Amino acid sequence: MKFARLVEIIFLYSFETDVGWFDFPELALWTAGLSQTRVLALDPALPEHEQEERLRAFLLKGKGHPVVLVGLDPLWRGRTTIDLLLEKFRLDPGLLALVDLYEALQYPQAKYVLIKAQELIYLAATRVAQAHPTEIQDFPVSSRVLVWGDSFAACQAALELAQQDFEVILAAPGNSFGPVLPGAALPETPPPDLIPLLTQVRAQGLIQPLWEASITDLAGGAGNFTVKIETAAGPRAERVGAVILAPEFRLTPNFAGYGLSPQPRLLSQTQLEALLFSEPETDQSHLGVVAFLLGLGGDTCPQSLRRALGSASSLLLRNHQVHLFLGQAQVAAPGLEQALESALEAGLFLYKLGDAPEIVPEDDGIRLGFMDPILLRPVEIQADVVVVEEDYQGAPENRSLSPLVQVGPAPPQFLQGENVHHLAGVTSRQGIFVVGPGHGIMELHGSLAEAKAAALEVRKLLDQGHNRAPKAQATVDRGRCVLCLTCYRLCPHGAITWDNRALIRDLDCQGCGLCASECPNNAIYFRSYSDEQVFAELENLDPRLHPRIIAFMCQNSAWIAYQAALKLEQGVLPLGFTAFKLPCAGKISLDYIMRAFIMGAAGVLVLACHPENCQSHRGNLHAHWRTEHAQALLVEAGVDPRRVLFQTLAANSPQDLLKEIDQWCAQLREMDEAVLK
Ligand code: SF4
Ligand code: SF4
Repeated sequence: MKFARLVEIIFLYSFETDVGWFDFPELALWTAGLSQTRVLALDPALPEHEQEERLRAFLLKGKGHPVVLVGLDPLWRGRTTIDLLLEKFRLDPGLLALVDLYEALQYPQAKYVLIKAQELIYLAATRVAQAHPTEIQDFPVSSRVLVWGDSFAACQAALELAQQDFEVILAAPGNSFGPVLPGAALPETPPPDLIPLLTQVRAQGLIQPLWEASITDLAGGAGNFTVKIETAAGPRAERVGAVILAPEFRLTPNFAGYGLSPQPRLLSQTQLEALLFSEPETDQSHLGVVAFLLGLGGDTCPQSLRRALGSASSLLLRNHQVHLFLGQAQVAAPGLEQALESALEAGLFLYKLGDAPEIVPEDDGIRLGFMDPILLRPVEIQADVVVVEEDYQGAPENRSLSPLVQVGPAPPQFLQGENVHHLAGVTSRQGIFVVGPGHGIMELHGSLAEAKAAALEVRKLLDQGHNRAPKAQATVDRGRCVLCLTCYRLCPHGAITWDNRALIRDLDCQGCGLCASECPNNAIYFRSYSDEQVFAELENLDPRLHPRIIAFMCQNSAWIAYQAALKLEQGVLPLGFTAFKLPCAGKISLDYIMRAFIMGAAGVLVLACHPENCQSHRGNLHAHWRTEHAQALLVEAGVDPRRVLFQTLAANSPQDLLKEIDQWCAQLREMDEAVLK
């Protein structure tokens, strides 16, 4: 047993870790007996200066050696040690591996606890001994930012950035300044605290407005985009370091949802607001009895209810009779239930219905007939005006914008859908952010908060005109690349370009590994997760542990669930269960799966994020396809294809993970009792 180079192994050992079956000293002695290792036992409860002294005496001077930190929950218990290693002793983070011994405590017998712990240490040392140091570089970046859109969120983002001395181009398709949110020009609709926002944006010298604009091209990558913009004054090309997209959504009256055609007594919510809140006040005598239809002609959102209640309250104040027909409306938004109660107290008639009322236009009004859910008898109401809710959709220009920026689209016409990994406006592309109404219906305060968060992200990326960051995880071997452009087409983060060979833009690469797994010529090398490391680990699995089950887990979902599962229950996992953390499920290769079988695996499990929740968009799909490919190969070899299983899992589902593994292992046992006994 020999590692590719010397590995320094630190045991976080204290009386707290002396638990149950666990024999720490014996494990440390075994580790010290391995060649190419040095071992230190360190009490993580020691004061920082004492830990520093011991580490200084232990760590070899000169070129940094890889370090394996072993303990129970080392990330938490060893946080002082980790900080010292990384900050005081400048250990390259790529050369540090953690071994959480909770994984070994899974097993009820002392013998297996020890063997499993040995395997965990051995595999971590194998991996880290072959790791490549992180190369940090300075990348020059532009300090200009393009903010696109006509929403309050766009204004907020532009202002935040300008206040931090970034030069901002604020471009929008309209021909005047200011958001076009319905009623924005009307006194009561925009919250009064937004007036100063608009005033400040207008007064900011660092914000350059560009109206009647459209984005026609976007090239380059994070820190250095070139954006072509068509304006009334002609085309222009701008170099910017980041792009924030916040186009306002558009509203369409949902007459069709109720089987209605436009007519004078039917109003959309926006039309009603224009009548109620315009300056100078318009004649409203024709409004008389007003009925609102909400959530009965399709999905609705809290914003629609809030607006309807705002208008209803205003009408009630003016002594109108107001009826609200409410279907599947969401009231789970701050202050909404209270607004509903206030309107009821002011005299609002509320009918919660399962189906839309019968709506019959007549000469002197509109008749609404329905079965009263409380009185259980038919009721008719004669309204002078019926107000219909509106559908919220992304801006029409999003359709052409989405392919240009390689983000989205997401129905209905938004730039980006809901993805737990893309919060705070972050997208799959470094340096491109989609905030507020660019990616969905959201309340104004949420939109503004997101704009501020995106501005902070931009600052991290572009601060001071340069970005100090690690080189990309993926590197192209130019001698092997045949410029087939498979990687360029597949990269979900738009990180690949080419000259006469494929080129990876360091700041854009997010290290998913999809390109490395798909390159037909094996021309892409993945620095922190090389094939050599995976194969070496598979070869070093402990033969005393069986049945051998290998699980490849996406670090963004299943791996998190697995770490939680280890602390939930004991004895659920088979003795030979070994988990491999993948940077993204899309990094799984056919070779990994087949090599696991060659090394004696009884089954291989590939766990990815749920559909629509992959941080790298299609990583989970690629993982699925590769497991299907592996299954086909198993069939050809006369092996039951169910020995490879693909599953999706959420990070917060440790119980589901344990259940899944348990059921599958039972299936494997049925398949081949002889292998699993
Ligand atoms: S997939 Fe491989 S061979 Fe094809 S362009 Fe990319 S690096 Fe070159
Ligand atoms: S590792 Fe992922 S993000 Fe980086 S270049 Fe390859 S496919 Fe793109």
